[in-house]
Amino acid sequence: MPTLKELEIGVFFWAEPDALATVRTLRSLGVQSGQLGVDGSANLDARAWRAALQAEDFHLWTVFAAYDGESYADIPTVERTVGFVPEATRAAREVRTRQVIDFAAALGVKSFGCHVGCIPSSKSHPIYQPVLQLVRRVADYAASYGMTFCLETGQEPAEELLSFFEDAARPNLRINFDPANMILYGSGEPIAAFRLLRKHVVSVHGKDGDWPDPAKPGALGTEKPLGTGSVNIPKFMSTLKETGYTGPVCVETGVHGEQQRWTALKQAVELLNSLR
Ligand code: MG
Repeated sequence: MPTLKELEIGVFFWAEPDALATVRTLRSLGVQSGQLGVDGSANLDARAWRAALQAEDFHLWTVFAAYDGESYADIPTVERTVGFVPEATRAAREVRTRQVIDFAAALGVKSFGCHVGCIPSSKSHPIYQPVLQLVRRVADYAASYGMTFCLETGQEPAEELLSFFEDAARPNLRINFDPANMILYGSGEPIAAFRLLRKHVVSVHGKDGDWPDPAKPGALGTEKPLGTGSVNIPKFMSTLKETGYTGPVCVETGVHGEQQRWTALKQAVELLNSLR
C-alpha cells in the first residue's frame, strides 16, 4: 500500500475492461489512490483488479456502484431513474449492490458508495420507507465485511440528507461529500452543506460546476473544469482543513474524450495538490 497523506488527492474513475492499463495511466499522472466506479454492465473481475492494484501499488478508498437504466439527463429523469428510488428496478439493484460489495471486499476496500436516488422531502411519501429499509439492508451487508456505506450528496438539500441519515441509524453509514452536486442540483450552498454534514463525511469529491439556469425548470447545472465553477475550490479546500477533515479528496472531472479527460484530470490534481 502506498504512503497516504492527510487530504490525499486521488481520482474517481470508472472501471474499464483493462484494469492494469487504467491503473497505470492514473499512476503516470502522479496519483496513488482513488475511488473506482462500476456501472451496471461492468464485469466484476476481482482477480484482475486486485492484481492491477498490487502491481501499481495503488490504493482504493471506495467502490461506487451505478446501475443499468440510470440517466442523468435532467432532474426529473434523475428522480425517475437513479438509485433505489424506482420501484421496478429496486430488487435487481439490491442484488447488484450486494455483488459490488462482494467485489469491493475481495479487493480489500473498506467503503462502498452509490447515489441512492432523490430522497423525498416528505417522510410520509410512499417511497421514503422502502428506500430507507433498503439503505439499512445495504449498510448491514457492508458492515458484515467491516465496510462503510457512503451516501453521495447533492440530490437533496443537506438538511434532508442528514434527517434521512439519522432515520437510517446505522453506525457504518457515512457520507461522500460532492460539493459540485449541491450546485448542479440546486440543492444548496456547498460549503455550508459540508459544515452541516462534516462529522459523517469520510470522503470528498473534487468536482466543480455552475448552478442550473432558472429559465430552464428541471435542468441540471453545468459541470466545469475544477477551479472554474461556482464551488470556490480554494475556499472549499480551506474549509476541509479548518474543520479537521483529513480524508481523501478524489477528483471527478466528468470530462469525456480520451485525451481531454486525462489532461483535465492532471490539471485538477495539480490544483488540489497546490491547495492542500
Ligand atoms: Mg460525485
